Amino acid sequence: MRLTVIGTGYLGATHAACMAELGHEVLGLDVDAGKAAALGAGRVPFHEPGLAALIARHTASGRLRFTTSYEEAGAFGQVHFVCVGTPQRTDGDAADLTHLEEAFARIARHARKGALLVGKSTVPVGTAARLADATAVEVAWNPEFLREGFAVEDTLRPDRLVFGVRTRRAERLLRGVYAGVLQAGTPLVVTGFATAELVKTAANAFLATKISFINAMAEVCEAAGGDVGKLSEALGHDDRIGGKHLRAGVGFGGGCLPKDIRAFAHRAAELGVDLGFLREVDAINMRRRDRVVALARELCRGRILGARVAMLGAAFKPDSDDIRDSPALNVAARLGLDGADVTVYDPEAMDNARKAFPLLGYAVSAGDALRGADLVLHLTEWPEFRDIDPAWAASLVACPRIVDGRGVLDADRWSGAGWWFRSLGRPAPRWEGEDAEIRW
Ligand code: NAD
Repeated sequence: MRLTVIGTGYLGATHAACMAELGHEVLGLDVDAGKAAALGAGRVPFHEPGLAALIARHTASGRLRFTTSYEEAGAFGQVHFVCVGTPQRTDGDAADLTHLEEAFARIARHARKGALLVGKSTVPVGTAARLADATAVEVAWNPEFLREGFAVEDTLRPDRLVFGVRTRRAERLLRGVYAGVLQAGTPLVVTGFATAELVKTAANAFLATKISFINAMAEVCEAAGGDVGKLSEALGHDDRIGGKHLRAGVGFGGGCLPKDIRAFAHRAAELGVDLGFLREVDAINMRRRDRVVALARELCRGRILGARVAMLGAAFKPDSDDIRDSPALNVAARLGLDGADVTVYDPEAMDNARKAFPLLGYAVSAGDALRGADLVLHLTEWPEFRDIDPAWAASLVACPRIVDGRGVLDADRWSGAGWWFRSLGRPAPRWEGEDAEIRW
């Protein structure tokens, strides 16, 4: 089939490449001419494992092309996937649908007779029906569940597909697009617009709630002297609960979960439904960042001014260079404003971090960041950081103090190598240097 993918960011570039991999002829469209040109030349302007190879292969074969022209896209595609951003509005919690509305209006103007416009962006319930009622071209909604860091795998082998459709024809077209995925046994849910939109926001709300639940338990553990690591291990053995997304830490960030739960609560309120618990989920999540800042202060015995802080991590999660609403950079910026001398290292997100936070210091490696540090913060769980030898790290720093904001480092190993080791929701072991004089 001939498909277009409108908006070729994290979601769209992956979708376009994977649709080519499934055997379709694909034209990607973005209003950012630089992005379209880079992708067209086989280069991916962001980090996503496996994506660069796929884009290079399919652009070289000619099966995947990129453009900035809606006219060309309209003439080309039988099915148009709309994958543009739906960020949080600057004046509140609602989703900003400006890009989405513009993309639908522009492609509808140029689409061929019989084309299908398929929304993949995450939207407030009711958006698909409104867009469908405003255009003569048929609309469907096919929400996307991919995870950055696993985007290619999640697109080619998703847990499930959801088609929100009004007609059998739209369902047939989508079944054709995903024939290869469906043949592999992927579950399919065919439903109306509202349910399709809600599956996505409900899934994100559930995941965010699970993360904030265990982080609230971390708060209780800290108050009561419990260990949230052991607590989540024991809870996770219960099949009804499950261990995934149940690790306490600095919480979630990124371009999806935070804005999606806010937009969902906002939209539900418009419909007269109170999802106030999602505001609490959001508040618990933001409190974790405060807690890391407080722990940093505690380890520096209140003297952040002049402390040299090594920040391990900048991306909001490992295997990504995405720094949107990154907890690590939020904490780094706050400590920087308080007078700390913060040096950041991340395996992939350095360029993005430097652009967004030019006043922070940047190292060329983890070792470079650690050298001479008075305090280390581990806030993105890259495997490279997990594998750091605590004895080697101790030989580099000025003072071996660390906050593990992701709860993945081995506390006994780090403490055994002489570190003052703190982790959210876990007991605070006494450290022999605790009362020594602060030197900076
Ligand atoms: P993004 O910002 O990386 O990409 C959006 C792209 O759309 C940009 O390249 C931008 O230039 C382009 N664009 C904006 N207006 C346009 C227009 N009128 N015409 C053509 N292109 C236009 O965003 P993203 O992370 O890819 O997210 C896109 C949507 O997918 C959002 O609704 C998001 O919630 C949803 N989503 C994202 C993920 C994820 O992991 N990133 C997962 C599932 C769903």
